Parts: sequence; structure tokens; C-alpha cells
Amino acid sequence: MTRRARIAAILSAAACVLAPASSRVAAQVQPDLDPQIVKLVSTVSEERLAATLQKLGSFGTRNTLSSADTPDRGIGAARQWIFDEMKGYSPRLQVSFDTYQVAKQGRITHDVEVRNVMAILPGRTPRRIYVSGHYDTTAIEGGQESANAGRRGVQITQPKDPNAPNDSPAPGVNDDGSGTALTMELARVFGQSGIEFDATLVFMCHVAEEQGLMGAKLHAQKAVQQHIPIEAVLNNDIVGNDRGGNGIVDGATIRVYSEGPEDSPSRELARFVQRWGARYVPSHHVRLLARPDRFSRGGDHSAYNQYGFTAVGFRESRENFSRQHDPRDTFEGVSPAYLARNARVNAAAAAELALAPPPPAVVDDRGQPMINKAPSGYDAHLRWTASPGAAAYRIFWREAWGPDWQHEMVVGNVTELVLPNTLIDDLVFAVAAVDASGHESFAAAYVAPPRAASDVQVVKTPRER
Ligand SMILES: [Zn+2]
Repeated sequence: MTRRARIAAILSAAACVLAPASSRVAAQVQPDLDPQIVKLVSTVSEERLAATLQKLGSFGTRNTLSSADTPDRGIGAARQWIFDEMKGYSPRLQVSFDTYQVAKQGRITHDVEVRNVMAILPGRTPRRIYVSGHYDTTAIEGGQESANAGRRGVQITQPKDPNAPNDSPAPGVNDDGSGTALTMELARVFGQSGIEFDATLVFMCHVAEEQGLMGAKLHAQKAVQQHIPIEAVLNNDIVGNDRGGNGIVDGATIRVYSEGPEDSPSRELARFVQRWGARYVPSHHVRLLARPDRFSRGGDHSAYNQYGFTAVGFRESRENFSRQHDPRDTFEGVSPAYLARNARVNAAAAAELALAPPPPAVVDDRGQPMINKAPSGYDAHLRWTASPGAAAYRIFWREAWGPDWQHEMVVGNVTELVLPNTLIDDLVFAVAAVDASGHESFAAAYVAPPRAASDVQVVKTPRER
């Protein structure tokens, strides 16, 4: 095709989209909700979540350095119960321990074997969507409330002998029994759904989060080494309580934190969670926060970010710090009904992601965004790489000062689009892949990479030479 013919084809594709008679393209993409996802979301059980929370609390402590060989108490009994439980949900789930030998370092007082517990639901393709929490717990003198107020107490959980098991009470029903119960419940409903997903789903219960995100780091590190294609991580940590320690109650919203810079893949994943959460769980509002996490606090999603993966962190909207990292983190401090709503938002987002094609690539092999002002010099000319399984693409755009998409349009199975007389300097654009049933990926945004500084050479004086 000549350059002129190609541009004509692009313009006609764009015109076709812009014209009101574009119903042929629109008809390929059903705007309605997918009844399979509606059903899946509805099968999340508040009663099961409550039972799992109580069982997790019953181990007394799940400290990474607690007893590994005591029946019904400590990390060893807890991880075996999580393993057996997930294995029992469905023969489709491949349940395993993701085991590492960690050397003494930082808050790890002796060499120790640590085990993430993971359940894999294989999809048609190897690309992976994760839902996660951390099953380990901790307790510190005075809890998180004292730490917030600047009163850093002595660690009560560290026994004098660094080699002795740390079995001080740390029930961790909310931190992070809530994220663990949510992850396990989604393993159950996805495993039992009978739905064939395009992506492989991984339900991951991390360990050693309280010692510096170690379980998540070890897994992310391995994923980089083994080229495991992790597309998105939905991490849940402290998502079960709706009563703030300051008396403010909010059971109708959940926070989602995402690492920048603006329009990073993690930010687009966060926008996706809000968009699809609102459709499938309209009573629950996803509040997006444009920062990696809360002040001075961390979570496992950041470990994935550090290794280059796309990941967001879910956090309850109103925390009760007096029950965190404290023996008072018990079942009385959580709301299974609130946790169920947060689980449903996760289920909707994970199902939509795993049924949709992967997001298209919008950068070329040199890492440059494939956007310019051709053909007139005043147009928006977007190109992207076709996403396997896509039947159409959804284009989003907004003014370059502002967080929320203002416009969207569906185009057919094309890989470029010209919007005539549209100034790319003032707008942010992104593209999502859509399959024939309307399942949509998270978007890939056109972002100019930062320019490295380069020194200007100046003429040297005779003395400097
Ligand atoms: Zn936590």
C-alpha cells in the first residue's frame, strides 16, 4: 500500500468511527455486562469469608519466624491449612508451595525456609493475572497506633534467643487475614466457575511481608529470571475493616494505590479497577490514590513494581491502627460484609482482565510512543501493535491536566487511527484491546519517555586546558 493509500485507509477508518452510522463497528462490542462475570461476582460468599477469617485467627500467630511444626498453631500449620483448603476447592486449581531458603538478614533473625502458597488456574495463554494477600502476621509493642504517634516501642515479638520460634500472639485477622481470605475465596469462585479464561489466574498468599515484602520480592525476582509473563497484580492488604479508629465509618468505598508516574501501567490498571468495579459492583466505590501506598507503610504490590511489573494495592478506606500489628487484630475488628464487597470488586476486575485480550503495545522497539501529528501536522495519529484475540480497540483521551478520561471511542480491528485536527500536545491518549464479546483490557497510554540530561561543552580557558 502506498503511503497515500494507507493514510486514506486510516482516515476512512477514523471517519467511519466518527460518523453516526458506525453501528457496524459498535455492534461487535456488546455494552452489556457479561452474565458469566455477574454470576461469578455473586458467588463470593460472606459466610465463607467469615469462616476463613476465624480459622486464620485461630492459629494464634502466623509470624514468619513462628513454629513451623506445631499442630494448629504458627506459620507451619497455617500454610498447610491454606494449601489443603485451596486444593479442595477445585481439581482445576494447581496448588503449590513457592519455597525459598532465606538467610539471616534485617528482621529475619535466623536462616529460615519461607513458603508462599499459590493456586494457579491455567488459562488458554501463559500471561498471568494475580490476586494476592499476605498470610504472615506480626505484633509490635503498642501496635501500629503507637508507631503512628511516634512512640516506637520495643519489639515484643522477638524472643531473646534469635533462633527460638517467635510464638507471641499475632492473630492478624485483618492484617492480612483479610487479604488472604479474599484471595482464597476468589480461588474458590474462579476455580468452581467453569469459565475458560484467556489469561492464567494466580491466587497468591505471600509470606514474610512483615519482614520487608520478602515473599513477594522472591517471587517477583524469580518471575524476572524465568520470564514469567505477569501482566497485572491485584494485591489486597488490610481490606476487612470499615470502622476507623477515629470513629469514622465507611463501608461503601475501597482505596486503590498505584505507583506513578502518571499514566504508568499501574495507574492504568487502577483506572481499570475503578471502571469495571463500578459496573459489576455499583454500590461500592473505588477511590484511586495517585501514590504508591500510604505514608511510611508498604505492601507487596510495591515489590512487583520494583521488579518492573504492573501492580496495585487495595486498602480499606478507614483503618483502625490500634488493631494493626497488635494482639487485638481479631475477628471482632473486621466486617465480613465489607470484605465481601471488596472481594467482589477484585473478582470483577480479575475476571474482566483474564477474559480480555492483553493490552496492545503503544511503543515501538526503541521504546518511543507511536503517536505523531501526521498527516496534516495538526492531527492525532495513533498507532499500536495488534493484541492477540482483539476484535476492536477502545481509545480513551483527556486534557493533559486531570486524572479521569473525558472521551472514549471504539474502533474496529485496526492498528492505527487519525483524529483530524486534534492536538496531541494537549491531550493524553490510551488504547485498550476489546474482544468480540466486549471484554476489555486495561489501557496502554502514550507517554513521552523522560529525556536524560546532557552537559553542554563549553570552551575551556587556557588555564583549564
Ligand atoms: Zn499487611
